[in-house]
This record gives sequence, structure tokens and C-alpha cells, in this order.
Amino acid sequence: MNRELALAFPDAHCELDFTNPLELAVATILSAQCTDVRVNMTTPALFAKYPTARDYAEANRTELEEMIRPTGFYRNKANSLIGLGQALVEQYDGVLPNKLDKLVQLPGIGRKTANVILGNAFGVPGITVDTHFGRLVRRWKWTDEEDPVKVEHIVGDLIERKEWTMLSHRVIFHGRRVCHARKPACGACILAKDCPSYGTGPTDPAQAAALIKGPETEHLLELVGL
Ligand code: SF4
Repeated sequence: MNRELALAFPDAHCELDFTNPLELAVATILSAQCTDVRVNMTTPALFAKYPTARDYAEANRTELEEMIRPTGFYRNKANSLIGLGQALVEQYDGVLPNKLDKLVQLPGIGRKTANVILGNAFGVPGITVDTHFGRLVRRWKWTDEEDPVKVEHIVGDLIERKEWTMLSHRVIFHGRRVCHARKPACGACILAKDCPSYGTGPTDPAQAAALIKGPETEHLLELVGL
């Protein structure tokens, strides 16, 4: 299934825009309960105004909140960003650490965010169990676990380590474009023959094809002969 997904999404990637680990940490914090597209509309101005950890540590709260307001939950997110900036300045000379156990101690950074940062900014393999990833691996019966940390470990045992980051991207891409929460596009899905949940969504190819979203739609339909 991982190999099929690699064919389906050869350039699956982190859909948040960033140029360094701090920017990715900030974008990931802002992405809670918000689409990556909206985060990417907010971050260019934010990154220009707050290029370093110290800039967040010393930010004017009202100004920062105003800039990140479009991403929702902006008061909590401003707390996280200011707290993250302060912790980085105090403990790490303003530089984001590249270890899971250190990252998860930082304000606003849970295990999921830490794995996103490790996998995408530091090249350390990481499995990102977000809502899409959890839903899909349960549909595929890779596990029945609901707890993201258990899911991470179980999937980590199934898939070789060097594939972890790309697997995460592919699964999340598949969840966003094909295997939707409510109406998965089963009749036009590259994994149909291997998926124990085939039939959860429409199996009629034309009906299913209309459910596929995103720029890879033509390629995805070609792969299943539609
Ligand atoms: S067959 Fe259906 S449930 Fe299974 S992965 Fe494809 S879209 Fe999802």
C-alpha cells in the first residue's frame, strides 16, 4: 500500500510553507484547527516581521494576535509563539533543538508537531499521526488503536524507518484528496484492491471520481484507468 501511494503521490510533501526549522514550528502551531492554505496566506508577513526566536519572545501581543487572527484560536496560538520564543532564547540560544524529547518540552509543541519538524526541517524520519493519518490506517486495519502515540509506534514497526516521513505525507495526501472522512472515493481509489474498508464510500467509478480533489486528480484517475 505504501508503494501504491508512492506511485499516486510521487511528490507528496509538507504542505506548509517554510524555509527553516523555526518557521516550520510556527506554521505547524498555527495549523491547529486551520487549513494549511490559510496558514500559508498568513505566514509570509509573519515570518518577515518575526524572523528569529527573540522576535517572538519580545513580540507585542496585540500586534502578534492581529497578524495570526485569520488562523483562529489566535490568543492561544499567540501564547504558544511567545512562550516558544522565550523558551528557545532561554534554553537553546534561540535555535530549535533537533531531538523529539527536547522539542516536546517546548510551549505549543506536542508530539505531532515535533515529528513534523523532525521529518521536514531536520531530515530525521518521523511519523505524523494527524486526523487523516489515524483515520486511514484504521480503515486499512493496520491498527485499531485510537491513541496517536500507539498508532505511531505500531505503524513504525510495520514500515521501514527511512520511509516514515514520506509515508506520513502520502497518507495525509490520500486522506485529503481521496479517502475523505465522510465520503471516500472508493470506486476511484488506487488502494481499492487492498483496502478492507472498500465500499465505505461510493464504488461507482464516475461517482467516486467526482469526489477526488486536488491538483493530482488527473494523474490519480489515470492510475485507476479512468
Ligand atoms: S478503498 Fe475507500 S476506504 Fe479504502 S483507502 Fe480507498 S477511498 Fe479509502
